[in-house]
Amino acid sequence: MERMKRWAEMTWTDIESLVAEDPVAVLPTGSVEQHGPHLPLGTDYFIPLALGDRALRGIPESVGCRLVSLPPLTYTHAPHSNPWPGTANLDGTTLTRVARDLIGELGRQGVRRIAILNGHMESQAFLWEGARLGRRGGSWVTLINWWDLVPDPLVEDLFGDAWVGWELEHAALVETALMMALRPELVREERTPREDSPLVRPYRSLPPEAPTLPRSGSFAPTAGASAEIGERIAGAICDGLIDALVNIAESPAPPSPTAKGDRS
Ligand SMILES: [Zn+2]
Repeated sequence: MERMKRWAEMTWTDIESLVAEDPVAVLPTGSVEQHGPHLPLGTDYFIPLALGDRALRGIPESVGCRLVSLPPLTYTHAPHSNPWPGTANLDGTTLTRVARDLIGELGRQGVRRIAILNGHMESQAFLWEGARLGRRGGSWVTLINWWDLVPDPLVEDLFGDAWVGWELEHAALVETALMMALRPELVREERTPREDSPLVRPYRSLPPEAPTLPRSGSFAPTAGASAEIGERIAGAICDGLIDALVNIAESPAPPSPTAKGDRS
């Protein structure tokens, strides 16, 4: 029997038994957002979904914890991609409330160990605030951004001077390489853009300065991306993810709810 379960494929009786075993639940989060002419709109949730599945399958048998993959939270806050077709946004306040309600619902069900595996940079603060508000006493929520698990020396080794930083890593080198490795059937390689880096200013403006971003929708060059590079990055992320999930699984259970409730 496979140890990894998918929440949405289970029945209520399955969930009842699963929750009694104090599982770690992984929630992939991403965006529905333009990702250049060569990557699909769902890139930001396809990546954490695939990495999460791979990591969950890679957790050693000796870790005696049940694991479950939740359906991804797909829509998010991505206004910098509004100038392109296909992007569908939630306001930041809406996203906070969606995250709050989801985390609260999982807590109500008795799920005490929740790992949010995030694939979209702008979601971070809203997911975190939602988790803080929705978390019930007795539940432990962790926010993991996959790019934080990529070791700096690996980036240096793979890209050297071609690396422009995580801030511009949108439909660029790493996301393109990861999609080539994880979901190659969805990458339109013949449409991979070859534009110069955009002008990056050390501040943000409203309205967003769309003219400074490349028309292609890739915020940095993709030249050099390959499935091999994507595999090396995916492997490093999965190593970090397995460490994090084992830590979450093996740590002592969080404190039980107090009479007054615990919303810290
Ligand atoms: Zn992305």
